[in-house]
Amino acid sequence: ATGTYLKGKIIIGTCTYSGGPIGQRSAEDLSGSLVKAGLKLMRFKTGTPARVDRRTLRTDEMAKQEGDKDGHAFSFLSERKDRNKECCWLTFTNEETHKIIRDNLDRAPMCNGIITGIGPRYCPSIESKIVRFADKKRHQLFIEPEGESTEEMYVQGMSTSMPADVQYAFLRTIPGLEDVKIMRPGYAIEYDCLDPTQLTPWLETKKISGLFSAGQANGTSGYEEAAAQGLMAGINAALKVQGREPFILTRSEAYIGVLIDDLVTKGTNEPYRIMTSRSEYRLILRQDNADLRLTQKGYDLGLVTQERYDRFTAKKKAIEEGIAALRAISVTPSKANLEKLERLGTAPIHTAITAYDLLRRNDVDYEALRTVFDLPELAADVEEEIEIMIKYEGYISRQMEQVEKMNRLEQKKMPTDIVYADIDTLSAEARQKLDEIRPLSLGQASRISGVSPADITALLIVLEQHSREEKNHVSQ
Ligand SMILES: Cc1cc2nc3c(=O)[nH]c(=O)nc-3n(C[C@H](O)[C@H](O)[C@H](O)COP(=O)(O)OP(=O)(O)OC[C@H]3O[C@@H](n4cnc5c(N)ncnc54)[C@H](O)[C@@H]3O)c2cc1C
Repeated sequence: ATGTYLKGKIIIGTCTYSGGPIGQRSAEDLSGSLVKAGLKLMRFKTGTPARVDRRTLRTDEMAKQEGDKDGHAFSFLSERKDRNKECCWLTFTNEETHKIIRDNLDRAPMCNGIITGIGPRYCPSIESKIVRFADKKRHQLFIEPEGESTEEMYVQGMSTSMPADVQYAFLRTIPGLEDVKIMRPGYAIEYDCLDPTQLTPWLETKKISGLFSAGQANGTSGYEEAAAQGLMAGINAALKVQGREPFILTRSEAYIGVLIDDLVTKGTNEPYRIMTSRSEYRLILRQDNADLRLTQKGYDLGLVTQERYDRFTAKKKAIEEGIAALRAISVTPSKANLEKLERLGTAPIHTAITAYDLLRRNDVDYEALRTVFDLPELAADVEEEIEIMIKYEGYISRQMEQVEKMNRLEQKKMPTDIVYADIDTLSAEARQKLDEIRPLSLGQASRISGVSPADITALLIVLEQHSREEKNHVSQ
């Protein structure tokens, strides 16, 4: 997990030097030894905006952005409500800002050939935005506090590697930043990373047994991406030492599954970021049900504390009881019931239905139902879960059918000794890609770019022949 330190190169204008972020040293020799061991490296780039002094901002010229009033906790154990005391400030670039950037493009490492690494598509530098979206009159910026105990503010949206004097000049054209003092200038950093198709789905390098890799070193960018891979590589390194089977999360179980499957199956030619749109099962992969999807797995691995597990089982039980109670209440179109529905502000019924069916309605929620029917009092997260499960039941079950269909392909395991070069019914590109990736299942094979549906049909036939031969072998 070498981050951006592998042959890290810091770039600010024409000033470049070997180094990692925050004044740390880069790892200069590791890249060479990885290449010598037969690993393929790529060169990527990322960047950051200037950090500016809170005391030099004219906040009355910017729009205040308060934090969420009722924020959700990241952890299912957390009950803290005392967050978001700090606020951000919204402001915009303007024609003058853009002119200064355009006039100095010859000093912009992004444009004058100093930077050769490939940067993240979803957080381009301000100079890239000015060049790429030349028709835009302004760009939105959020001035965000770096923390409660620092005066440093982060100029979100203004990532740059232009010289410090240019950074000063363009920042001071922005409303609210006219007197701004830079505490640390923005910079770009280039670094080496592994082509992730050289990794197994449990993040071990295929070439070097026992070498696991995670984070930015696998071609991703971002805190969550790195943390997710670090967790999985750590789990799998420990399982390997214990002689146990690898632990893999599938695409329908977790975004971690989507992230790692994308990396090791498709690879990436730019810093990869996970986004909900990368998943084909977004209705199932929700933040509200992350505990229901993953706590049992963590517990089986020995990574979930008893306290967390007990909370999880209690929540699951409460959900089941709440659903059972809703199903048990039959609502007939009696005068008393019709009055109750009127009080809820929902349409009358003409035949008997259950409270469960009533909850499907857009204008009815669990709390409202509880005011008129005999339903148990539930925790807010349990109510939320029940409402989502019932209101979206039709869509969710349709998506579950797709998951089942795909699972049938995932369960068709590819023999480890298969020689793709010998399968002449495959296209030349498929033979090459399959040999490179060596997918674990037919499902994974189907996601490799360059492997067509016709290639999958050819592989299905090969797998059937293979299992027939195996059966014959056993019966002989
Ligand atoms: C300037 C900048 C701004 C960023 N902004 C954001 C952002 O706003 N949001 C976001 O989500 N992500 C951001 N990122 C990306 C995010 O920081 C990284 O993707 C993430 O931290 C990568 O985690 P990692 O564990 O892979 O590596 P790192 O967090 O970089 O950790 C690597 C560690 O390895 C150590 N190390 C390296 N080489 C050696 C060696 N040879 N021996 C021993 N130790 C070594 C380093 O000291 C470091 O502690 C930014 C990155 C940079 C550089």
